[in-house]
Amino acid sequence: MSTKFVILGAGFGGLELSARLSAAFGADANVTLIDKNEGFVFGFSKFELMFGRQTLEQVRSSYREIAKPGVTFRPESITSIDPVSRRVVTNKSTYDADVLVVALGAEYDMDVTPGFKEGGYEFYSVDGAIRLRDVLPNFTKGSLIIGVLGEPFKCPPAPCEAAMLLDEWFTERGVRKDIQMSVVSPWGIPVPASPSASKAILERFAERDITFVRDQVVTGIDPAKKVAQLRDGSTMPYDLFLGIPIHRVPAVVQASGLAVNGWIPVNKSNLATQFPDVYAVGDVTSAPVPKAGVFAESAARAVGEHLVATIRGEGTPTPYDGAGSCYIEFGEHRVGRVDADFLTGPSVTAPFTDPSLEGAAQKNEFGAFRRQWWFKA
Ligand SMILES: Cc1cc2nc3c(=O)[nH]c(=O)nc-3n(C[C@H](O)[C@H](O)[C@H](O)COP(=O)(O)OP(=O)(O)OC[C@H]3O[C@@H](n4cnc5c(N)ncnc54)[C@H](O)[C@@H]3O)c2cc1C
Repeated sequence: MSTKFVILGAGFGGLELSARLSAAFGADANVTLIDKNEGFVFGFSKFELMFGRQTLEQVRSSYREIAKPGVTFRPESITSIDPVSRRVVTNKSTYDADVLVVALGAEYDMDVTPGFKEGGYEFYSVDGAIRLRDVLPNFTKGSLIIGVLGEPFKCPPAPCEAAMLLDEWFTERGVRKDIQMSVVSPWGIPVPASPSASKAILERFAERDITFVRDQVVTGIDPAKKVAQLRDGSTMPYDLFLGIPIHRVPAVVQASGLAVNGWIPVNKSNLATQFPDVYAVGDVTSAPVPKAGVFAESAARAVGEHLVATIRGEGTPTPYDGAGSCYIEFGEHRVGRVDADFLTGPSVTAPFTDPSLEGAAQKNEFGAFRRQWWFKA
């Protein structure tokens, strides 16, 4: 096995692909996996951080513990990517790949929305969630807005999940009756792909007196006047503003020439980019699926099968299905599930399983399974 794989980014997509190549080729896999972070944190663990239920150390899986045969992890920051020569430069070294896979995710642009950096909060980054942990206990009355600042954004249900979890948290502290809660969404329903999940969320919102402001985004906030501006020119007063930040590809991807109109275009069935032997998976792409870990993971599965079949000259890889099961927190320890399939049929299917304690147990199992499969030999 002499093909040298270099995988950029050890998130959902990069970890899944490394594990699959390791499973296929064992100690000969010849995979170099590069990430600038110390470890992996599930997106949904940011809720644990924001409510102070778990610490960063508790939710982070250290990359030092990756023990997959044939996979070498490099804790480095990528500073340039040449997709033509497949040469990658980091703050410490240079790598020449036979096959290069870009799985660098999406970053946040906190500066682009007027007033947001000065007066807003967010739970989409680890730092933002930890910052909120210290702010929430002091918020005991007034208007709370959870506002989407623009599309696309990761994990479409997350703003509504945050609202349902915050509702429970404020209720437990006896202050909910003094807090008005709204979610500002760019869509007509909370999760456009799943009308049944959306119906369940809106029913819960009605029960819990959470307002869903549809077909809007927050274009800016005025921290002095405590007013949020919406796309249609109207305004909403707030006392605490939580924004879903504008998403972008990392600067190193933008500079590489891989992105077109903001994101990396890929072949829908095998995630190949326009550059030979360069693939891209997950949030960094413009693949026709939502930005979520489960779709980054299923994309990595498709690339893995394609590479193994190509290298061995045998087998027919299953095309990318754009499928994955997303868990939705409803509060009171109940979790619902959407089983989405974006690409295999003539139209999107996304049936919903009602929130339950069993759903919460399944979500725990989802995390535990991946920590084992991605990290352990
Ligand atoms: C609050 C919240 C809740 C969520 N809940 C869910 C959920 O329940 N289910 C779900 O499926 N998804 C969920 N998500 C979305 C999910 O976290 C992302 O969509 C997923 O992580 C994308 O995977 P990825 O592999 O494309 O990128 P990422 O997982 O973001 O990985 C990209 C990696 O690239 C690295 N990187 C970037 N630039 C560089 C550089 N220059 N040098 C070196 N390394 C670099 C980063 O450090 C990162 O580790 C949630 C997200 C949030 C914010």
